Amino acid sequence: MQKITIAIDGYSSCGKSTLARALAQKLNYNYIDTGAMYRAVTLYALQNNFIDSEENIDKENLIAALSTIEVEFTLNEKTHHSDVVLNGINVEREIRTMQISSLVSKVSAIKEVREKMVAAQRQMGKKKAVVLDGRDIGTHVFPKAELKLFMIADPDVRAKRRQDEFSSKGQYFSLAEVEMSLLKRDMADISREESPLTQAEDAVILDNSDLSREEQLEFVLKLIADLQFISREEQSQH
Ligand code: C5P
Repeated sequence: MQKITIAIDGYSSCGKSTLARALAQKLNYNYIDTGAMYRAVTLYALQNNFIDSEENIDKENLIAALSTIEVEFTLNEKTHHSDVVLNGINVEREIRTMQISSLVSKVSAIKEVREKMVAAQRQMGKKKAVVLDGRDIGTHVFPKAELKLFMIADPDVRAKRRQDEFSSKGQYFSLAEVEMSLLKRDMADISREESPLTQAEDAVILDNSDLSREEQLEFVLKLIADLQFISREEQSQH
């Protein structure tokens, strides 16, 4: 089977990372959670007082510090998932808070931050056999990805999923609070100047509001099988 690049984009909490992880496991591909990278930079900005209590970002100093920020992934032996590492420290837990969620869109809108993250993502994914999820993967990071998915789901379903994810980590918020935060983040991601969240023309839409994890995986594996079939047909025609 030909090794391909799978780009998964979509709104917040549409189940992109769950599907991406399942696909990577099934196909024995690498998984790159690009949102985790922007979350790690946001954590760095907080830790270094580049964000004040009014949520204003000291862009100048954050940009100046970018060359000292290193974001990588490491395999967690217990969960078998890859954890994000910020300057040598595993910060997987620290980046999954409501505070980081509500600040990350401001940090990810900064051009220089995006340039650095995109360069790292292209480097990590250059050998193909990779699944990346994010907001600009199919449109900007890997515009030639062989398979592009754009995931959507009902806002209520998404908010419930995110609320469950928070509470499994001991963080409790009302559904309305979670939904508001998601919609605010989507709005910021859609309307920013630098590579805003948008569906690539050649992306396949996957609405998973009523689909189980297994059904989503099956749907995508079928798409991949079709894609391989099409390439073989195309080859035999020449
Ligand atoms: O996927 P996740 O919810 O962890 O992403 C957090 C945030 O990171 C997004 O809301 C978005 O602002 C930013 N992001 C981005 N481009 C990506 C991935 C994430 O701007 N490729």
